Amino acid sequence: MAELEHLKEECGVFGMYDFSGGDVATSIYYGLFALQHRGQESCGIAVSETNGPKGKVSSHKDMGLLNEAFTPEVLEKLKGDIGVGHVRYSTAGSSTRENAQPLVLNYVKGTLGLAHNGNLINTPQLHKELEYTGAIFQTTIDSEVIAYLIARERLNSKTVEEAVGRAMKKLKGAYSLIVMSPRKLIGARDPFGFRPLCIGKRDNAYVLASETCALDTIGAEFIRDVEPGEIVTISPEKGIESDKSCCILKEQHARCVFEYIYFARPDSLIDGCSVYHSRIMAGKYLAMDSPVEADIVTGVPESGNCAAMGYAMQSGIPYNTAFVKNSYVGRTFIKPKQKNRESSVQIKLNPIREVVDGKRVIMIDDSIVRGTTSDRIVKLLRDAGAKEVHVRISSPPFLWPCYFGTDVPAREQLIAYNRSVEEIRQIIGADSLAYLSLDRLPDIVGGREICTGCFTGKYPMEPPQDDIRGEFDE
Ligand code: SF4
Repeated sequence: MAELEHLKEECGVFGMYDFSGGDVATSIYYGLFALQHRGQESCGIAVSETNGPKGKVSSHKDMGLLNEAFTPEVLEKLKGDIGVGHVRYSTAGSSTRENAQPLVLNYVKGTLGLAHNGNLINTPQLHKELEYTGAIFQTTIDSEVIAYLIARERLNSKTVEEAVGRAMKKLKGAYSLIVMSPRKLIGARDPFGFRPLCIGKRDNAYVLASETCALDTIGAEFIRDVEPGEIVTISPEKGIESDKSCCILKEQHARCVFEYIYFARPDSLIDGCSVYHSRIMAGKYLAMDSPVEADIVTGVPESGNCAAMGYAMQSGIPYNTAFVKNSYVGRTFIKPKQKNRESSVQIKLNPIREVVDGKRVIMIDDSIVRGTTSDRIVKLLRDAGAKEVHVRISSPPFLWPCYFGTDVPAREQLIAYNRSVEEIRQIIGADSLAYLSLDRLPDIVGGREICTGCFTGKYPMEPPQDDIRGEFDE
């Protein structure tokens, strides 16, 4: 993944309900492990015993990676046959332990555990509305607003899933949710389907997860995706129940295309489309549309690799691994200071001189955001002896911010804002530079409906007047 200066990922969610009464915490831990790429700032697991006292939830959450936050002793104490887990990168709300998820909320009808991936665009309004009617917020995250809304709607609803549906009518933005009630596990996806969510099954246990790779990791079989706008309720009495009253027309769906280009793992399928295949196709289209003579094609690890293979397949130019990535260094983007970002390029990536020395190299990366490290990576190749460095980017240029859970910054910080491709080429010091064209995006995801807001400024819903991202940061 070309995370050196790249987009911050959002979050990963995982829920499980074992109808046979087995403990789920360990499986949730391994499921979250497969989703660690979606968030490395904090993580947590909350579990409950469906046959125990209603509302008794055990939870543990902390800052850092899963293997830092959880020990075997901690997991051992988390007893329960229903549970929900979360890995977080903060796109709204600051990075503190209080803001870690899942959120656990006690209210008159029992206890609610909630894990959320995405970003709402009407949080300030909802926040105000809820505060005026007595809510006292403990955190600065969207998810608490959602939890309060559900709790409030529950008072006027027959079931918790009905309350989720009512709350969804008030939410604007991107969300994939997993809600744990004392006796039910509920999954919901916003009507546009920005963020993924899928259902799996292992023996007598049902699973909800951000990506299918998490199902594979725990040996669960993929059942299906939760559809955009759908609410699924999982209970031993009724299995999987579906409510589609919040669904919108298929033509209006707006999956975040960056899930395919960058966020998701290549061994995942999202809405039936292989992430690996999308990246291969992006590389193939780059080779068709922006060919160049060269000796090798290489990818900036990890997410540039599949697109580089696609480019190689299409062009006939051999693919080779030109970088060794040190995976043991914390990701640059979880350290906010510019200084760290810059110094970590070399710590993280080292070119293999034998591969690039004297060669004309095509280097594929998934995106350029601010452009603060692309020049360094190009220079690394040149210093290792590359004769020419041709950069190909497997997405169109970022021109607009994202309001839906991806940390695409304000326009002024984007390298492509107000600059031509030629100007960017000069800044990063490449011999040539080309981006994937906008027209190719639907083709890389098999024609599925996608959001292209950060490339076009045309968002699937009216963006907020003021940029509210970060407003709830402390
Ligand atoms: S604006 Fe870009 S990053 Fe944000 S949801 Fe849409 S495609 Fe994804």
